[in-house]
Amino acid sequence: MRPTGNLHLGNYFGALKNFIRLQDNYDCYFFIADYHMLTTHPNPSDVQQNVKTILCEYLACGLDPEKATIYVQSSVPEVCELYMYLNMITYVGELQRVAAFKEKVRQNPNNVNAGLLTYPTLMAADILLHRATKVPVGKDQQQHLEMTRDFAERFNKLYKTDYFPLPQAFNFEGELVKIPSLDGNGKMSKSYGEQATIYLIDEGNVLKKKIMRAKTDEGPKEKNSTKPVEIENLFSLLKLVSTPQIVQQFEDAYNDCSIRYGDMKKQLLEDMNVFLTPFRERIKELSANDDYLNKVIAMGADKARESAIKTIKDVRSIIGFRA
Ligand code: AMP
Repeated sequence: MRPTGNLHLGNYFGALKNFIRLQDNYDCYFFIADYHMLTTHPNPSDVQQNVKTILCEYLACGLDPEKATIYVQSSVPEVCELYMYLNMITYVGELQRVAAFKEKVRQNPNNVNAGLLTYPTLMAADILLHRATKVPVGKDQQQHLEMTRDFAERFNKLYKTDYFPLPQAFNFEGELVKIPSLDGNGKMSKSYGEQATIYLIDEGNVLKKKIMRAKTDEGPKEKNSTKPVEIENLFSLLKLVSTPQIVQQFEDAYNDCSIRYGDMKKQLLEDMNVFLTPFRERIKELSANDDYLNKVIAMGADKARESAIKTIKDVRSIIGFRA
């Protein structure tokens, strides 16, 4: 995750919830993507604080540094070397066709830098550096994962090896998920729609305003009608935090046209608050414990570098360089 703000529900349900389950059964590497963050030129004085914020939120969500390797990307500079090797087998055309790149160009036409274009190669390097097989991501990252598989396959073919496994995008529920935003427009995201994005730290009036202002329509006119996207989105969010009985109660009310969106939003607010409270509390506790956070960062860097150095040695030797 890039340290460019707080984690939101999309990050949690798309990625973190799966991290937590994976760490019990697999050798896991989770990192904070501070190199990736540089595509948007953050102020140097904010960088450490941004990293700390995400680390606290990872730990508050249940990532365990004793079970998994949790590290900051820039403490493992070996990834840059792999990124460079991968860039040699990546075509500019395929990078220009990436949906996320095209979207960023639309949003920010004055900062189309090479780092932004080669974002998928750095992401592939992050994954291949530990020869990962499963990568827990949301649906929005599916295309990046397909590219990582292409690069791994291309490398293997070029050098007549099977060194890199072909990694799969992964979600425990089976399908990759896309958590919608509150304004009926696409996915929940920190890049657009602050007011339509629910962060793990949201509380009180901030949370209330976001939920109560979520876009709705005038209500169904015919029984059992198809829901418009903004209403479907509200139901999707309710399903994340409410019981199946409550969801069914509102589904029934929608189907017989008796639904009152105000009531549904109040319920969503109440259940969302119950869901978020423990995260908020743990985040507060952890942010006050710099000693512990520094220990976690140091431990993660050692473990991640061990794995990275091994891969880079192997790759150099496969390419024909001195290992
Ligand atoms: P980002 O915040 O874009 O750096 O994404 C970090 C992780 O969260 C990636 O695995 C994304 O796939 C996931 N993610 C971000 N937004 C969503 C969303 N709205 N729904 C599902 N997963 C998401």
